[in-house]
Amino acid sequence: MDLCDLAVIKQLIHSHGFNFSKSMGQNFLIANWVPQRIVEESGITAANCVLEIGPGIGCLTQALSQAAGRVISIELDKRLLPILSETVGSLPNVKIISGDIMSVDLIQLKNNYFSGFEPVVCANLPYNITTPVLTKLVGSKIFSSITVMVQKEVAHRICAVPGSKEYGAFSIYSSFYTNPKLLFDVPPSCFEPRPKVTSSVISLTLKKSNNAVLNEKLFFQIVRSAFNQRRKTLLNSLFSAFSKSLSKAEIAEVLTESGISQSVRGEELSIQEFVKLANNFELQKRNKGKF
Ligand code: SAM
Repeated sequence: MDLCDLAVIKQLIHSHGFNFSKSMGQNFLIANWVPQRIVEESGITAANCVLEIGPGIGCLTQALSQAAGRVISIELDKRLLPILSETVGSLPNVKIISGDIMSVDLIQLKNNYFSGFEPVVCANLPYNITTPVLTKLVGSKIFSSITVMVQKEVAHRICAVPGSKEYGAFSIYSSFYTNPKLLFDVPPSCFEPRPKVTSSVISLTLKKSNNAVLNEKLFFQIVRSAFNQRRKTLLNSLFSAFSKSLSKAEIAEVLTESGISQSVRGEELSIQEFVKLANNFELQKRNKGKF
């Protein structure tokens, strides 16, 4: 059954009395080349167990099951379960789990289903939960690669370089734990119903090193404060965030020690510069008992 064929999809949803839910980000793929290319570019093999979020009627699930050792697909919309049972229910290496990815305990999921396989993620993500779901998946450090389709604008924010207008705290979060890469664009005409914007497929490959950060919590506190008020200089942003524990002169000193100009804005700093800065803040804290 070609699950990307619009006539097949229409027949399936008609016979099950299904209608699309906007609030669950339901835009189903109707172009066969897309799941094929996603699976191809993800590099998934029989050694992988794939976590899929939101199988819909199962078009990507079907393509994944041909390449992977096992596929675990989590679907929030219970109305899709009887359709999925008809479309992918007979595939021996696919398991459909009814649930919300945001409430799933990923460590428990890994222990229950991924043993003996290398865990990866592959999904056409519901656009309304893209950032929280990627934060959860990346932060878990469980998956060696995450290949997902997201809105083009989000893809560009994740893969942005310092100094660009898309560069922000989420670009740093993503590249702190992974190596993000833009793969290809998918036009609105490839979905039913058609979204208003173009989508992009990206991959996030887990980094093996830990970036040599002394205090991860402090690192992200500094990153967030640097991007909270983008128009402010880094010195002023840091002073707003840390004025209870450090004077402006002390913050200026840490910037100088880190080789960073006082007039720079946070959006110009690379991840390595943020690491250096956060480590010097941490040393200041340890030396002076500040914070
Ligand atoms: N994989 C299908 C495809 O490519 O055609 C459907 C993708 S559609 C963009 C997103 C899917 O995610 C829908 O099936 C939707 O019901 C499901 N979904 C939405 N929120 C979810 C959540 N919190 N947890 C799991 N699945 C969710």
